[in-house]
This record gives sequence, structure tokens and C-alpha cells, in this order.
Amino acid sequence: MAAEVLAAMNEAAGAFVDIHKFHAKSGERIAELFGVEAACITSGASAGIAISAAACMTRGNAKKIIQLPDTTGIPDEALMLKSHRILYDQALRVSGAKISEIGEISKVSIRQIEEAVSDNTALFFYIAAAEQVKGSLSLADIIRVMRRNQIPIVVDAAAELPPLNNVSKYLEQGADLVIISGGKEIRGPQSSGLILGRRELIEACIANSSPNFSIGRSMKTDKETIAGLVKAVELFIRKDYVQEMRRWEAMVSNIVESLSPILGTHVRRGFSKEPGVQPAHIPRVFLKPTASTAQELQNRLMMMVPIIYTNIQEDELVINPQCLEDDEVAQVIEAIMALLE
Ligand SMILES: *Cc1c(COP(=O)(O)O)cnc(C)c1O
Repeated sequence: MAAEVLAAMNEAAGAFVDIHKFHAKSGERIAELFGVEAACITSGASAGIAISAAACMTRGNAKKIIQLPDTTGIPDEALMLKSHRILYDQALRVSGAKISEIGEISKVSIRQIEEAVSDNTALFFYIAAAEQVKGSLSLADIIRVMRRNQIPIVVDAAAELPPLNNVSKYLEQGADLVIISGGKEIRGPQSSGLILGRRELIEACIANSSPNFSIGRSMKTDKETIAGLVKAVELFIRKDYVQEMRRWEAMVSNIVESLSPILGTHVRRGFSKEPGVQPAHIPRVFLKPTASTAQELQNRLMMMVPIIYTNIQEDELVINPQCLEDDEVAQVIEAIMALLE
């Protein structure tokens, strides 16, 4: 978190607020900053998933909000493509929603989507990171079918930043709610997140959120987190991402050039081939050690102080510069060099 974010949290810690008003007003401020209709602050993208589902099922009806997670008499089906199932989707079920999978892991048709919709359907849950996987359909296709049936579409875009316009992109395409993590590229508090989208549904999200008695009451957003997230969003939207991309490119070429004398052609700049490793357009370093396996090298890096976390794709070690500070690049290079030599 930036010093300004910590300062905002510190200031909030020393103040009394009407938490209902502070939560709602801060959401309005964030919506304005992103240029979208409305926003609801949550304690993370995961909480955002549970709260979105509760909002789609209850539509703000006070009696139903209290009744959840018992969904007797409430349409409670959350449609998902089978290929989009992820461990985070458990949060849907926290609300009482029942997940209904469509299609096969590597195959699905629009016709199957159309046939899956029923009177019991409450929402369609779409994972932005899975748009390109084999058994997926484009968000545009899903929107076309759901719009016809007036089923709200919730897009989990937790890690889809940068670029900045990904926040409004899905909404402009016709999604109803978009969920973003506050603790990833926005660099707000780790336990913060956002639901952005159509005003009426966002109001239902707020009704299903802390401090209101609802499923979201156990996912509290404290005043410090709210203040920190607003400040982090202010800084995030002002950030120059052309410049940021140049910085990541420079880190990648620095690592590649430094390790080339040892590894030759076995170290290169590249991009993740596997869909779902977000954000996919940030360049990475791919390196293939010659005297050991990538897995062995990864294990050794996990034992360093500080620990250096990497990924593996096929037989290559993958380094993502996204979370590195400028002065940490040299540490990464030194650690890998020492291990390789
Ligand atoms: C990170 C992530 C989440 C959870 O985000 P939190 O803010 O940590 O709750 C949910 N869905 C996807 C796709 C994610 O990448």
C-alpha cells in the first residue's frame, strides 16, 4: 500500500463515522472515479461473489435478505460454464445459491446455455480470466442469451487490472455487476474489494452487505479499509500505465540480459500461454535451467530469504515483474545467479 493509503486509513482510525453513510458515499466516490453507475465496497472479491449472488436472489427484498442462506421460495440457481468452475466459486454457495454447471469441460454450445435458463435461475456467473479456455463461450454470447431472459450477469474480474478500462468494459458490453479485488493491482487493503455496476443491483448489494443484517454482515468492511480503498482507487486511476508497462519491460530485459551469459538462449521475454494467469499482457521472464529442472530451481527459490515466488509453465520457470519494486530486481537476479552457478 502507498503511504497515502496508509495515511487515509490512519485518519479513519481516529474518526467516528456513520458507517452506513460512509460505506455508501465511499462507493459513490469510487463509482465516479471509475466512471460507472454505482459501486459497493466489500471485504474482498470473494465477499463480492457471495454478496452479488445474494443481491441477484433477493433484489433487496428485506424479508428475503434475512432468510438467506435458506432459499425456500427464492430462485437460487447460479449458472456457470463447467469450464469456468474455480475454487473461489464456493463463495456463491455461501449465499445459499446453488451452482448449476453448463456443458462439458472442453465443449459447450449456445443452445445449452439457452436450455439451462429456467424460472429458478437467479444469475449467470462468469469468470473473466476463463474467457479463452477451451470449453468457454465469449462473454458477449452469454450476455446476448441472458439479456433476452432478463437474467443478471455477474463477472468475476478480480485480477483483470491493468488495463484500467477493464472495469467499465464488461459493463459497457452488457454485464450487470463486475467484481474486482481491492488488494491486487489497485494496491488497496488486502481485505478490500469492489462490486461495480447497475445502480438497482448495487443497492441490493449494499442491502446484503455489512453493516446491514444480511449474509454480508459476517464480511465486515471497516472504516479504515473503506478509506484506504478510496485513496488507493484515486491513486490507481491516476497511474500512468504506459510508464508502468515500460518499467515492467525494463525489469524483464534486465533479468533476461543478466542471466543470458549463464543460460544463453534458455532465458527469454514472453507471455503466459495458459489462459487464466492474469493479467496476461504483462511481460514475463521464462527461463529453463540446464543443470536442473525448473521445479528444482523453484523449490530452491522458495527457501531464500526473502522468499522468491515464481511460476512454472511446462519446463520453464516464469518470473512475473508485477509486484516487484525497482530495487528488488537485483535481488532476484543475484539469487538466481547464485543458484545456477
Ligand atoms: C483473487 C481472486 C478472487 C478473490 O479475491 P479476494 O479479493 O482475495 O477475495 C476471486 N476470483 C478471482 C478470479 C481471483 O483471481
